[in-house]
Amino acid sequence: MNVISGAVHRPGTAGYDARRSGYNLVIEHRPAVVVEAVEVDDVTAAVRAAADAGLPVAVQATGHGPSLPADGALLIDTAGMSGVQVDPGAATAWVAAGVRWQQVIAAAAPYGLAPLNGSSPVVGAVGYTMGGGIGMLGRRFGFAADHVRAVDLVTADGRPRRVTADREPELFWAVRGGKCNFGVVTAMEIDLVPVAQLYGGGLYFGADAVPDALRAYAEWTRSVPDEMTSSVLMVDVPDIEAAPEPLRGRYVMHLRIAYCGSPEEGERWVAPLRDAAPRLMDTVAVLPYERVGSIHHEPTAPGASYNRNVALGALDAGAVEALLAAAGPRAGAPFAVELRHLGGAYARPPAVPNAVGGRDAAFSLSSMSLAAGADLDALRAAHDGLHERMRPWRTAGGLLNFLGVQDATVGTVRAAFDAADYDRLIAVKATYDPDNLFRVNHNIPPRRSS
Ligand SMILES: Cc1cc2nc3c(=O)[nH]c(=O)nc-3n(C[C@H](O)[C@H](O)[C@H](O)COP(=O)(O)OP(=O)(O)OC[C@H]3O[C@@H](n4cnc5c(N)ncnc54)[C@H](O)[C@@H]3O)c2cc1C
Repeated sequence: MNVISGAVHRPGTAGYDARRSGYNLVIEHRPAVVVEAVEVDDVTAAVRAAADAGLPVAVQATGHGPSLPADGALLIDTAGMSGVQVDPGAATAWVAAGVRWQQVIAAAAPYGLAPLNGSSPVVGAVGYTMGGGIGMLGRRFGFAADHVRAVDLVTADGRPRRVTADREPELFWAVRGGKCNFGVVTAMEIDLVPVAQLYGGGLYFGADAVPDALRAYAEWTRSVPDEMTSSVLMVDVPDIEAAPEPLRGRYVMHLRIAYCGSPEEGERWVAPLRDAAPRLMDTVAVLPYERVGSIHHEPTAPGASYNRNVALGALDAGAVEALLAAAGPRAGAPFAVELRHLGGAYARPPAVPNAVGGRDAAFSLSSMSLAAGADLDALRAAHDGLHERMRPWRTAGGLLNFLGVQDATVGTVRAAFDAADYDRLIAVKATYDPDNLFRVNHNIPPRRSS
């Protein structure tokens, strides 16, 4: 390990405790060792050391997407790999493994450009993109993984590789969508898109207004253009000072809007939603893209969260009523639910094919509970109940990036991909990681298992 320039932490040290935990505390990782990587050579040395010692390799950038406990693994902490370089002429960005979206957004904005980031600017750009990436401009431009030009990664043999559409195309296909199964990504080159502002923000409806607002939303999504990306969160807002006063301590439906066409058209598209029911609060307005994170306004402080996800093939009237019954204001459900409108460019094949699953989904449906001190078995049963209720509208699987710890099973991961693509992913895995060194993740094993 003496060739590693970053710090190496063993159990019982302060550094170990600081670096093994991240944003979502639902899992407590107990790795054999934590390696803080600051350059590619650190990753190469760490992967080789793990392979020699027979330890699995786990990777953490921010801790927003835990899957399995990294117990007994060599955990590579990529947070120190923090470079971003924008090429405004080519409209691309080179992004290192530890970068959070807010850094890329800030670096691209002076040129009137934007990355295909998601709802929270503090999520890691690389982990998000390799898992597909369902973003704030997604219905217009597709998955973030559809706009990756090159991936630098260290494979299980300890070799750093640059893969592109022309160089090792099978691995390039797999890593864009197959996530962390094929190596430790040290950097990626991505497209930026010419978006400097949005017509965006949130419409907030109180409990009495939720049924009308949700019905109107479902109807509205049938005709909106690809420039309109939107989602809905139905949640019990805690009675805390950090929550805006009109929402505090209330059941709220937060309808999020991100329109990347002209503000005038955006306002016209949003008008029927404003008319659907009385609003508690309305923040939808012209927004510099740099403030895109204010649309979802997600918490940034670490906490324990239990998340599950399924995809819906449709959100018809029956699905809306089923969702209201399971998670609406009178359901008393121990979870919040989030619908994200997909379709549009998500459904279209990218210029360079990749492994991203879920293109046939019309909506993503996530359920989320605070997990600190909670009975996880009871939560599991409650979330299962929601999924069961929504079964008539579900597609085969969920969206990989939104799968939680409960979903880190071979069957659930398999269901997140098209069947033929999954077989192809297994073949790529068998070529590049036959011993499944990278298995502390939503895993694709190198051999088919039942
Ligand atoms: C508040 C919140 C908002 C979110 N919003 C969105 C959204 O809008 N759209 C969306 O698609 N997803 C979203 N996600 C999901 C998120 O994209 C995934 O959880 C993603 O994996 C997080 O990556 P990370 O690096 O930040 O997290 P980490 O927990 O650090 O990493 C997650 C996993 O990614 C893998 N990984 C990370 N970096 C590397 C690397 N360099 N090489 C190999 N593997 C790596 C690891 O296996 C790790 O287990 C959100 C999650 C949260 C908690």
